[in-house]
Amino acid sequence: MKSMPSLLDVYQARRRIRSMVRETPVIMAPELAGRSGAQSVHFKLECRQHTGAFKVRGAANKILSLGEDARQRGVVTFSTGNHGKAVAFVAGRAGIPATVCLSEHVPAYRAEMIRQLGAQVSVKGRSQDEAEQNYRELMQDRGLIPVVPFDDPLIIAGQGTIALEILRELPETQVLMIPLSGGGLLAGMAMAARSINPGMHIVGLSIDRSPAMVESLKAGKPVQVEEKPSLADSLLGGIGFENHYTLPMVEKYVDEHLLVGEEEIKAGMFHLFDTHRIIAEGAAAVGAGIMLSGRIDVKGKRVVSIVSGGTVDTAAYLQVLQERLERKTHP
Ligand SMILES: *Cc1c(COP(=O)(O)O)cnc(C)c1O
Repeated sequence: MKSMPSLLDVYQARRRIRSMVRETPVIMAPELAGRSGAQSVHFKLECRQHTGAFKVRGAANKILSLGEDARQRGVVTFSTGNHGKAVAFVAGRAGIPATVCLSEHVPAYRAEMIRQLGAQVSVKGRSQDEAEQNYRELMQDRGLIPVVPFDDPLIIAGQGTIALEILRELPETQVLMIPLSGGGLLAGMAMAARSINPGMHIVGLSIDRSPAMVESLKAGKPVQVEEKPSLADSLLGGIGFENHYTLPMVEKYVDEHLLVGEEEIKAGMFHLFDTHRIIAEGAAAVGAGIMLSGRIDVKGKRVVSIVSGGTVDTAAYLQVLQERLERKTHP
């Protein structure tokens, strides 16, 4: 087993991925600071990252560190969402062949989006598990290099570069609010932030409809949970049966862990649009949502909340805005 990623790996990642990612903006949120009693609240806008989510950071760090032989064979992944897009984007720009395995249930527009970024799409199977089976076969039969979504030191170090950007711009930050699913984002950011400032308070935000990480922390090993559909679809999914890195790192670094509900997610999405004209996907709105509900105590603190992505389904998004707008105008 490789060793856990360190701050040095995050610095190396920053240099390696420079040509593939942009430094995203940080904006002030005085309304939310006022409502929550925080000294200050800022949003880090990874929804403005290339491909619409932070995932391109980890994918670029992994793919650009492959040797010549691996680059020629090409990479393979089975994620349908932001990770699949990120792998397609990076591989396409680096001239490396990429295959993204999808199940037959994935909407055609998603497959098309991935093709347009320059990747091959392999549609096989009726579920995510069957798509994963196809992915394993491609790996074994054709020697393609797997690019996993979170449990890899290079992926974790890539996501950690977000913390470097935040601490350079806002070195007084005391609290980081981080969406949490497989844990690559939290592990990388928390490790980097704590290495620079040991007093940093790390809040992990999972969804109550898919609490795989929380249950795994309780059990002390990866467990599978039954999950229900959520507006925060990027936070669905387990943490992998053979988790080597993110589970121990999340356990080490997370100070506070909250499960966010669907109404809170909607409130966060609406607030980000209504107040800042920011289009955040459900997974990215958990920080705003939990501060609005008052279920977290950030009084007097300097808070940065990660708006991790902006990949929304237009119809579902408009429905959330419409519903919340009616509630605001006819309470
Ligand atoms: C993947 C993703 C997350 C969760 O990241 P993990 O590394 O799986 O914890 C959060 N928000 C968005 C938008 C994502 O795409």
